[in-house]
Amino acid sequence: MGKRKLVASDPCQSKIQKLSMFGFSSNSGSEHSTPPAQASNSVKIVKPSTPKRKFNISWKFNRNWLRYDSKLGLMFCDLCISANVQNVFTEGCSIMKKENVDKHEKGTGDNSHSAALCKSQSAENMEVVRQNALSKSKSAIISALRNTHFAASNDLPNSMVPRLNNLCISQLKDLRVDSHTTYESNSSVQEFQQSLSDVVLDRLLDRARASSVFSVMLDESTDVSVHQNLIVYVRFLEQIGGREVPRVEFLGIRQLSVANAEAITSELLGMLRDMGLDLSRLGGVSTDEASVMVGCKSGVVTRLRELCPGILATHCIAHRLALSCGEAADKVTYLVKFQAVLNDLYKYFERSPKNMARLEKVQGILEDSRSTRLKQVSNTRWLSFEGSVQAVVNIFQSVVAVILEDNSAKSLALHKPISCYKFLYVAHFLADALKPLAMLSKSYQKSELDFTEVNCLLHSTVQVLDKLISYPGCNLSAFLQHAPTEPLLLVDIVAKRS
Ligand SMILES: [Zn+2]
Repeated sequence: MGKRKLVASDPCQSKIQKLSMFGFSSNSGSEHSTPPAQASNSVKIVKPSTPKRKFNISWKFNRNWLRYDSKLGLMFCDLCISANVQNVFTEGCSIMKKENVDKHEKGTGDNSHSAALCKSQSAENMEVVRQNALSKSKSAIISALRNTHFAASNDLPNSMVPRLNNLCISQLKDLRVDSHTTYESNSSVQEFQQSLSDVVLDRLLDRARASSVFSVMLDESTDVSVHQNLIVYVRFLEQIGGREVPRVEFLGIRQLSVANAEAITSELLGMLRDMGLDLSRLGGVSTDEASVMVGCKSGVVTRLRELCPGILATHCIAHRLALSCGEAADKVTYLVKFQAVLNDLYKYFERSPKNMARLEKVQGILEDSRSTRLKQVSNTRWLSFEGSVQAVVNIFQSVVAVILEDNSAKSLALHKPISCYKFLYVAHFLADALKPLAMLSKSYQKSELDFTEVNCLLHSTVQVLDKLISYPGCNLSAFLQHAPTEPLLLVDIVAKRS
């Protein structure tokens, strides 16, 4: 406590000052009284200075919420401020007394510190509950997305997804909101698929956009619902370990209202524009030989060249190989007949479960468990019947046994062409010749193939085929061991003797 200090000019004035301190007026009619103006001039009164209360840092002990603003000289309660209540400590308490702090801490009512504390604790509890719920829902959604991805990657129908979900009930129990909201309907699965597809496409486009140049591969296809579609693949360069590696990825599929050059070009350009692939970086286009694609007047390639004059157009090399083999085979009369016989055999077994069952039964008796799949021969996939020719060679005995057992006109018509020496010789020869050609076709269909490999692969295949002219392959050699020459029929032998 400070001492009261009086400064007086003389003893009389000192007396007046003392009296004034006890409530007596200085001009109360005394003869020694002095007018106030004169008194103020002669007596200087220094008011007792009130001791300034200060904030004590020890008050903050166990009170994290208490804050002292030294600039404003005010105490605040952060807890009350964050809980949005109104009291002295939210506006700033200027009276630096511990009792005030205690009073604030113990106060009750809607706008009290206790109310703010309750609010804060409920908010914290709510946050914990929210985080737990989110974490559970997140793991459920990840499991549901995994199942959707599995179904899509394995060509399973969307209706299989709920059954897959049933396999992991414990992970997916938080996915079900109620009996109606299970996120397993077709639309939910499609939404999941779309989300997955968007992520995959975004990553693909980032890689494709980073490439200095890219090319596209186009083909038309008709789906099971008889809609025509345009299928587009993109080929680009990717930086891996300091070198550029070519990559081929599926870009998208779009339904075509009309499959003409104008519609295909417009759909392709729209797709590239939507995906942010700059047309100025288009370096090449690969198509089949259809006139709608490569027509010199208004084909898709011609239209693209008008927009990007430098693009390189390639006719699919595997497709070209199949077409050239098919056309070459069509020039040999017997090979045309051979293809027809193979197709008849394919239809005889593949379209009749009865005949197929009999074939399997005969194979069981003959203990021949080798391939029985006969394939249809078509000009665009001419090399795909390599397996069919090999199957005929492998199971010829069983095939003949089934046909001989059947008395129908169809089986009789088939028996004659397949039971001659020429058919067997050609079948064994083709089994040898088609194998390297099928391997070449598969090599040409590899996604990482580049122009430098095309000729090397072709020349090595031609060399293998050239060798077959002088040296029979393994299938033909085995056949010739059993039947080196065409056996003479009894009629011929009799005729010869006579
Ligand atoms: Zn408070």
